[in-house]
Amino acid sequence: MSDATCSDIDAITAVKHAKHRECEECVKIGARWVHLRTCQECGATLCCDSSPNRHATKHARASGHPVIASAEPGERWLYCYPHDAFAEY
Ligand SMILES: [Zn+2]
Ligand SMILES: [Zn+2]
Ligand SMILES: [Zn+2]
Repeated sequence: MSDATCSDIDAITAVKHAKHRECEECVKIGARWVHLRTCQECGATLCCDSSPNRHATKHARASGHPVIASAEPGERWLYCYPHDAFAEY
């Protein structure tokens, strides 16, 4: 996490990966998503801001969980909402 500029990303020692390749909230309402993100606080896998329902951002706002990781194959990055910080790992 060498290029991280936020203490939340710095505090992550092991990245949580998606348990399922689907947005937990979209599945409940029968919606579609574009990309998936995994909350690094609780492990919830939710959809990105390009998806109609933006569940990952809604979850971060509602829960206060700051950091998500991309759950897309081949992508290795973390993002912190409150600090608008991005880091590859
Ligand atoms: Zn942060
Ligand atoms: Zn969703
Ligand atoms: Zn969470």
